[in-house]
Amino acid sequence: MQLAERMSRLGTESAFDVLLRARALEAQGRDVIHLEIGEPDFDTPEHIVQAGIDALRHGDTHYTPAAGIPELRQAIADYVSQTRGIAVAQQQVVVTPGGKPVMFFVILALAGPGDEVICPDPGFPIYASAVEFAGARAVPLTLREEDGFAVDPETLRSLISDRTKLIILNSPHNPTGGVIPGSALDEIAAMAAERGIMVLSDEIYSRMVYDGAFESIAARPGMAEQTIILDGFSKTYAMTGWRLGYGVMPAALAEQVTRLAVNCHSCVPGFTQIAGVTALTGSQAPVEAMVAEFRRRRDAVVAGLNAIPGITCQMPAGAFYAFPNVSQIGDSAAIADRLLNEGGVAVLDGAAFGAAGRGYLRLSYANSLERLEAALERMRQVLADG
Ligand code: PLP
Repeated sequence: MQLAERMSRLGTESAFDVLLRARALEAQGRDVIHLEIGEPDFDTPEHIVQAGIDALRHGDTHYTPAAGIPELRQAIADYVSQTRGIAVAQQQVVVTPGGKPVMFFVILALAGPGDEVICPDPGFPIYASAVEFAGARAVPLTLREEDGFAVDPETLRSLISDRTKLIILNSPHNPTGGVIPGSALDEIAAMAAERGIMVLSDEIYSRMVYDGAFESIAARPGMAEQTIILDGFSKTYAMTGWRLGYGVMPAALAEQVTRLAVNCHSCVPGFTQIAGVTALTGSQAPVEAMVAEFRRRRDAVVAGLNAIPGITCQMPAGAFYAFPNVSQIGDSAAIADRLLNEGGVAVLDGAAFGAAGRGYLRLSYANSLERLEAALERMRQVLADG
């Protein structure tokens, strides 16, 4: 079989590979603590599940409009207007199977050969993968530990060229938990607005900010017309398996992204979308409880990591990831392997998120406090054994 050349430019997400390796160890009878996969360990709130079941029972089993059902597009427009402080119309919303397709469709729509897209490094690996697949060049924007893993506007400025078609931001950030402060967003917005560069703002962790309120670049002057907001239900409502997300963008781009959706998946299941309406318009108490629990775990995990000789870990300001620096101990890929094989603790090598992630590990603390404490103890033992 001869694959098309473009397949050589497609990357992947190593969390799924590590999960496979961890499952293979479990099949041999080993106990593995899963800190590799980025999904809440909570169940979808009951009232949302019930709405999905009711919709199925009522026959919501047919094709739906490619950009989403009007009730959900309107609920999303209202929610984004409220949470970001901008005016959003239904025509600007495209509902997708998870937030991820928004990356692929927006990048395919805006960037091609000869173009550059600035992507955070470390960063969610699918950004650069989709950019290279589209034939454009992914330009890494290094996020530094000393900046709290937020974007440094001056570093960004040095990377912008006449070929820059898109800047990708992700705050709160996977894999580091970093949050871009408002002052940096002001500077980045001014730069993008002046040059007319579009920004893809991945806000999938917007509800998981532990200090202060979430801020979107879309609310900065001139940026509502130049921002694509990516958000969804996977993390906020513990709905990863439902596959429900969305993009909010200028209406003209939404039309083009909808054409890509028609070519790709046609539409998102109706009962899933009805569950999404309930998620946005129903009680938010389960989200608040989940985020409070993540905060408790964050504090425990970061304290525990810093107590392990050779490890230093910043306090992440958002999401549910810790990104400890293990460079004093050794190679991060080798450490991640040892932790899995010797300690039964599945974590990711920071280098899976780009060259600037080398020397770090990514731990998802979407696991019970008890299991997290056990994982820290196992890590301490494996690393003490040299
Ligand atoms: N964006 C970031 C930064 C993520 O970490 C993830 C999931 O891990 C996504 C987007 C995609 O989310 P979804 O499962 O809704 O496609």
